Amino acid sequence: MERRIDVKTSAVQPTFVVRDSAESDLWGTVLNQLDEVAERLRLDPGIHAMLRQPERELTVSVPVVMDDDSVEVYTGYRIQHSSARGPCKGGIRYHPDVNLNEVRALAALMTWKCAVVNIPYGGAKGGVQCNPSEMSQDELCRMTRRFTAMIMPIIGSRRDIPAPDVNTNAQTMAWITDTVSMLERKTVIDIVTGKPIPLGGSKGRTEATGRGVALTTRELLKRRGQDPAETTVAVQGYGNVGSHAATILDQMGCKIAAVSDVTGGLYRPQGLDVTSINEHVTEHPRGLLEGYQAPGVERIDNDELLTSDVDVLIPAALEHQIRVDNAPDIRAKMIVEGANGPTTREADDSLNDRGVIVVPDILANAGGVVVSYFEWVQDLQCYFWDEAEVNSNLERIMVRSFDEVWSFSQENDVPLRLGAYMLAVDRVAGAVQSRGVFP
Ligand code: GLU
Repeated sequence: MERRIDVKTSAVQPTFVVRDSAESDLWGTVLNQLDEVAERLRLDPGIHAMLRQPERELTVSVPVVMDDDSVEVYTGYRIQHSSARGPCKGGIRYHPDVNLNEVRALAALMTWKCAVVNIPYGGAKGGVQCNPSEMSQDELCRMTRRFTAMIMPIIGSRRDIPAPDVNTNAQTMAWITDTVSMLERKTVIDIVTGKPIPLGGSKGRTEATGRGVALTTRELLKRRGQDPAETTVAVQGYGNVGSHAATILDQMGCKIAAVSDVTGGLYRPQGLDVTSINEHVTEHPRGLLEGYQAPGVERIDNDELLTSDVDVLIPAALEHQIRVDNAPDIRAKMIVEGANGPTTREADDSLNDRGVIVVPDILANAGGVVVSYFEWVQDLQCYFWDEAEVNSNLERIMVRSFDEVWSFSQENDVPLRLGAYMLAVDRVAGAVQSRGVFP
């Protein structure tokens, strides 16, 4: 595959850091991966340089009146990596570690993710550096509304459509919808996805990322000729992605042997009772595993979860959880990435060397943005689908995308991550090439 763009490329070629030996941040990981793919695809240097840099980056100050009447000033970001294939798309996260490079990387991952599942979007991401676990609902509401007002100049239903991510949810999306609607003097439901159902949300959106992870795992097991009933799974992270992935895989017959969240993990080699864990989490004031007890269930920490003796490991928490220091101890033969960027470059190399199959984030966790796409389509048409229609369309796209990545990787004798990236970057490059460089 060779992509060339019919324009003069910049006189000064960027100097690319290929394969930095030190473990870098997520943006470093994402750039390194792009550089390797560009080399393999013999990508035109002009297109490569365009894809190495986000199209637009906005940093905003977000002052919030706290419940005690003091004013706290947070920093927020909205970064649009590429609009080559369509409006930019991607979530907004609230976390103390949010920073410019992280949001850049997550925005680029959205570009590749939308391309790999072939939905007509580019990639974006947003975030506010804050600690939501220490904030009240009122404070979160005020912060969301101010952040929305600050990023409003660059978002829009045909420009850039936010969605939930780490520590944001349907309620956050409702506040964004209301803020934009009040400022624009009309109800604008197609500005974000992942909304509550009475506000133009889609059925099946909440579970969609976890469902996509489960479907991808099922397809992988099929290819490996492995019976789900004989398969043990460990899930790191019991938030929106991990909990639904575990629940759906449990329904598919897999044994969920270990789960964890920030408060630690639970382990039972014969399989945990996912239903009673979900009841516990629903009743826990902060939706955590903390305090769960059942016969035969051992408490483990997060490191023990990652190296537990299971067939499939699903990292569904934050980035760079699998690193050179723990990758050699991972006993799972298959990893399905529910989180964005959970594996460092060096760890990925070491897993590949050991023959561990890794289904990359941009494929495995794409179910969320696929159903976001369905939500947007429903909002634009003011015509809403039933849940069976959402789920069967999600399954069709996930299975098709898995098959494409699997076959391409086999044909080219590359790991699934490289195959997925090659397909994705080629699709984006194709759009850039045919559009040309404005003006
Ligand atoms: N935050 C999710 C992701 O990382 C969903 C994004 C969306 O639906 O736009 O894929």
